[in-house]
Amino acid sequence: MKKSRFEESWAKRKAGQALFSSKERLKVSKVYIPRQLLKFMPHSEFIAVLKGIKPVATNITNYYNLNELLSGLEEAKKIYSIEYLVNSGKRILVNSDKNYFKAFSHPTGSRKEQIVFSISRSKELVERANEYYLKRSDRKESPSYCHKFGLLAGYPKCCVDFADHVSGFKGTENEEKGWRFSNIRKISFQNSKKFSRYLNIFSIESLVSHMPCHLNCKPSKKYARKLLSFIEEDNKLYADSIKYFLFETNSLFWDESNKILIDGVKEDNTIEYEEFWPLTLQAEKCYEMDFVPREKLKKTVSLMEKGNKLVMDYFSFSVYKGEKLIGTIKKDSVFEVLLY
Ligand SMILES: [Zn+2]
Repeated sequence: MKKSRFEESWAKRKAGQALFSSKERLKVSKVYIPRQLLKFMPHSEFIAVLKGIKPVATNITNYYNLNELLSGLEEAKKIYSIEYLVNSGKRILVNSDKNYFKAFSHPTGSRKEQIVFSISRSKELVERANEYYLKRSDRKESPSYCHKFGLLAGYPKCCVDFADHVSGFKGTENEEKGWRFSNIRKISFQNSKKFSRYLNIFSIESLVSHMPCHLNCKPSKKYARKLLSFIEEDNKLYADSIKYFLFETNSLFWDESNKILIDGVKEDNTIEYEEFWPLTLQAEKCYEMDFVPREKLKKTVSLMEKGNKLVMDYFSFSVYKGEKLIGTIKKDSVFEVLLY
C-alpha cells in the first residue's frame, strides 16, 4: 500500500533523529547526541549550542530523571567539552492555567519536583541560565528575569521585548493577563505582515526556540536558516522531514496541543487538500490552554473527512467537496483558529 506523505515524512523524521544516537558519526565529524540526553532536550537545541549559534540551552525535566540526565550530560561534556549544570532549588513549576509562573518549594521532595539544566560552551553561562530560569519561575521576580533569561539564551532583542509586551510586563496591564489568556503564537501571527516558512511555529517542530515577534522577524529568520543549514549538512534525512513539516504543510491551528496539519494547495484563505493529520496532544504548556477546542477539532475532522477544500472566514470556516458545502463551524473569535 502506498504510504501517505505524512507517514513518509514522519518515518523520515524518526529515522533521522535516531541517527544522532549513533556513535559512529563522530568518526566522520558528524553530530552524535548521547541517547540519555536526547530524551530531555530537543535535537535542534543541542546542535545550536554545539555549533555556536546559540549561547546556552536550558530545559526542565522531572527530578526522577536526574541520573539518566546526568549520564547523558557527562558523556556530552567528555566528547565536546561542553559545560553543564543541573539545579533543583526545590521548586516546582505548577501546571495551572491561572498562573504559569507560580513556583514553590515542595515540602516532601516529591517525584514531581522539577530540575532545570543548561548546556553551553561557557561555565558562567550555564550558571546564569539556571539562576535566571528559576527566578523567572518566581512570580515576584519573573518580569525582569524573563527578560534577562531571553537575552542570555540568545533570543533576538525584538522578540524578548515582544514577550515582555504580551505578558503584560510592560505598561499598565495586569501582569498576569498576557500568559493567561493569550496564545503567544497567535499574537505573533497577528503582528505579521509577511510570513516566512522558516518561522513556522504552527507545525510539529520549530527551528526557533523562542516566539518570534512576528513571522518575518529578521534575526529570528537568520537563526532559523543557520540552524537548518547545519542540520542539512549533518543529517539530510532529518532536515528533509523538517522542511516538509515547515515548508510544505499548512495547519489549522487552535493551540499547540490542538491542530490539524494539512497537505494541500493553499491560496489566501482557501486550501484544497489531499490529506490531513489531526494532532491532539496533552497540554504541555498550560499558558496555551485558553479554551478547550478539542470538541471543535473533532467536529472539524469529521467534516474534513467528507470534503477536499476548506475555506476560512472571519467568524466561521467551511468544508466543501468540490463546490458542495459539507458543513460550517462557527468561531468564537476571529483568531480562535488560524489557517497557516
Ligand atoms: Zn523579533
